[in-house]
Amino acid sequence: MTSISANLQAVKSRIVAACAAAGRDPGRVSLLAVSKTWPADAVRLAAQSGQRAFGENYVQEAVAKAAALADLDLEWHFIGPLQSNKTRPVAEAFAWVHSIDRLKLAERLSMQRPAGLPPLQVCVQVNVSGEASKSGCTAEQAPDLCRAVAALPNLKLRGLMAIPEPAQESAVARRRFGDLRALRDRLNEAGMQLDTLSMGMSDDLEDAIMAGATIVRVGTAIFGARARA
Ligand SMILES: *Cc1c(COP(=O)(O)O)cnc(C)c1O
Repeated sequence: MTSISANLQAVKSRIVAACAAAGRDPGRVSLLAVSKTWPADAVRLAAQSGQRAFGENYVQEAVAKAAALADLDLEWHFIGPLQSNKTRPVAEAFAWVHSIDRLKLAERLSMQRPAGLPPLQVCVQVNVSGEASKSGCTAEQAPDLCRAVAALPNLKLRGLMAIPEPAQESAVARRRFGDLRALRDRLNEAGMQLDTLSMGMSDDLEDAIMAGATIVRVGTAIFGARARA
């Protein structure tokens, strides 16, 4: 067994244990393997162990990797900050975008989504850490942004995503994840149908699952420590 396949098994065991502790069905939490900075060969090893969904942060790197792995049936998720002038390759090559933080980005992705592909699945990224983080819209902006994104023809709004500031204490992480969950619940009570909470990474996936995460985004615990961000 390669270390990647052993690591994948270990992460899946953590997910199953966290679901048991939370009284949740492990079938409702999916694992996104974050492969940013790792070569296509590492992704191939993870795919050989049965992993299909991979998350990437950098457009050029991701597009090159997807092309090198085109023989595999993989699902690519864009999870990093996205510049408006780099949306086209993302609209063409990805299945999901988790980092929608402004309407202009969503409009361009919808316009550029090729006609033959299913709608691009998207999450609105919310800054649940206030001053401590710059990425994502504010919780106050989220309802209007969600409504506008949900109305775009070639996107399917699935839910919310957050990257809380690194917390020393579990209690802080849990509060941030709880805030995102509460926001999603409020939007659904107001008539939206958001089934996805993309939250939790290598260090805090248990807290995220406890708070209701449906996608955890895990890099380091699968591929090892990155040399760069
Ligand atoms: C890098 C990254 C991850 C994975 O983080 P790890 O701590 O390596 O698990 C998850 N989400 C986003 C948005 C990232 O940029």
